[in-house]
Amino acid sequence: MSFKVFGRKKEEGEESTTQNVEKKVSTAPKNPPVKKENPNRNFQGKGNPNFKKNSIKKPELKALAIEGETPVGGDKKLEKLYIMPLGGLQEVGKNNMLYQYRDEIIMVDVGVTFPSDDMPGIDLVIADYTFIANNKDKLKGIILTHGHEDHIGALPYLYNQTDFKCPILGTKLTVELAKEKFKSNGHKNIPTTFVEMQGRSKYKIGKYFEIEYIRVTHSIPDACSIAIHTPIGTIIHTGDFKIDLTPINGEVMDLYKFAELGEKGVLVLLADSTNAERDGWTNSELQVGESLREGIAKSKGRVIVGTFASNVHRIQQVFDIAKSLGRKIALDGRSMHKVSEVAKRTGHLDYDDKDLIDLRNIHNYPENEILILCTGTQGEPLAALTRVAQKMHKFVHLNERDTIILSATPIPGNEKAVYKTINALLMSGANVIYEKVAGMHASGHASREELILMMRLTKPKFFIPVHGEYKMLVKHKEIAKEVGILESNILLPENGMKIELTKESVRVAGKIQAGAIMIDGLGVGDVGESIIKDRQNLSENGIVIVVMQFNTLKKGFNFNPEVTTKGFMHNKYSDELMEQIADKMNTELLKFNQDEEFDDGLIKNRVREMLSKIIYMKMKRNPVVIPIIVEV
Ligand SMILES: [Zn+2]
Ligand SMILES: [Zn+2]
Repeated sequence: MSFKVFGRKKEEGEESTTQNVEKKVSTAPKNPPVKKENPNRNFQGKGNPNFKKNSIKKPELKALAIEGETPVGGDKKLEKLYIMPLGGLQEVGKNNMLYQYRDEIIMVDVGVTFPSDDMPGIDLVIADYTFIANNKDKLKGIILTHGHEDHIGALPYLYNQTDFKCPILGTKLTVELAKEKFKSNGHKNIPTTFVEMQGRSKYKIGKYFEIEYIRVTHSIPDACSIAIHTPIGTIIHTGDFKIDLTPINGEVMDLYKFAELGEKGVLVLLADSTNAERDGWTNSELQVGESLREGIAKSKGRVIVGTFASNVHRIQQVFDIAKSLGRKIALDGRSMHKVSEVAKRTGHLDYDDKDLIDLRNIHNYPENEILILCTGTQGEPLAALTRVAQKMHKFVHLNERDTIILSATPIPGNEKAVYKTINALLMSGANVIYEKVAGMHASGHASREELILMMRLTKPKFFIPVHGEYKMLVKHKEIAKEVGILESNILLPENGMKIELTKESVRVAGKIQAGAIMIDGLGVGDVGESIIKDRQNLSENGIVIVVMQFNTLKKGFNFNPEVTTKGFMHNKYSDELMEQIADKMNTELLKFNQDEEFDDGLIKNRVREMLSKIIYMKMKRNPVVIPIIVEV
């Protein structure tokens, strides 16, 4: 299995190798004198005329790896805790968050995201776990908020890559679903210990962290927020939540606990931003039940309900409604079978096996006694509902008496695929009920008023919006400002940021390796987004490679970089263009050499942009341009 990173690649000086740095620390005297200032800083200061800040190394970034240790006699107020998101920011999905205090790291959620329709052949996308692999001795615990794929789906991949030994905490259903994840990825024996948590239970991890579970309401049962009690204060990581005051299983959100923590003092709140753009209050699951009952009761023929397999509350309601209306239920979709079985086992789903029928036998029953519950509301190519719509389903062939209810809305990015399915379903002549038309779905995420309530209850000093695209994070930040949180106390995070938190401040202090890894069948990360684009592009336009030499003695680039092309154009036509490229490159390298800061990522982007532009102007072509920097 190979791993390949795409997205933001590791750059020089970026710490994915803090172990090396720590080694240096351990050779330092045990009680180092408290220095007023970093000696490097004096060297780099304005007063030093010899200083030329264009080194390819970034010492000030590396130095961060040892922070968090307060020197003897140091100020307790300045003790540092790091918050490092590996995913889940500026995107919906792939939630992976690290918290580090001194030499210990805990991880909250290990999620995946699903590929968008411009990633052909890709099954899943996971986060880049290089940082954890390089720091695996520090990883003391994995904490799961709930059982959704975007929070637990990458566990086996993380395990395969890091072989972690630490315990995994989760509520009963979450733990069962996590175990299933390992099983379906070929782990016969679960490789680590699971700690079963419930609302209000506490668990001490390592020397510094105490984890407290707080029950919330969400579109899957047994979801929790996490209070992380640390030496510098309490962190609340909400995970996904909504505030459903009439949950169908009666398990209300533990608002009292949030209020209690708020009274005691919450240092930072990291809260779900998915629905920050929506005004008001997210509908209760109970209201969805009423709409579903109405829709199903009206139907004269078969009813097909499509929903998320993990939405156990919804499935419970459909089971109850079907039973009361005299319909048998046929499940379709592997995940629908799996989750129903697991949730029944954990006591989160209640149904009688005799009310279920095999999909293959539906023809033995009158149409008005059948309800098919299936997956595929996101237009997933192989899911049950998609196959029904595409007339590719083995057992279900639509007729105009059928009613299809889509009890879900498209996840951002899936709209096109979903509308394609709806169009195809409508063409069959069946009655299709979808989206807000009839209140057949309620989101699992908190809208504006609920987000405000969360802030009012917890009264955090600092606020970091998480889970969501940039526009959602920005909206959530605005809400926080309206509630009175100081703008300087709010931080808009990005994946790969190393956020430094003290009792007095929150700021970005550096970065760690983060990105997205694509999974195609058995291959993990051997096909990246860029590779897919490149493949399409290469076949049409060829490739141009520029090798720039960075002279470590001169601390600058050598001129006349090597430029080679493949499948781009015949060399004899390219001479003139190559000369132009060489000229432009030299001018550009001269500029880089004069620059104060050296960032190889930015330089590569700049070179890529510049060459693409020249080549396009000259040839009207868009070859793949690959800038490479080598140290000589
Ligand atoms: Zn969720
Ligand atoms: Zn989520």
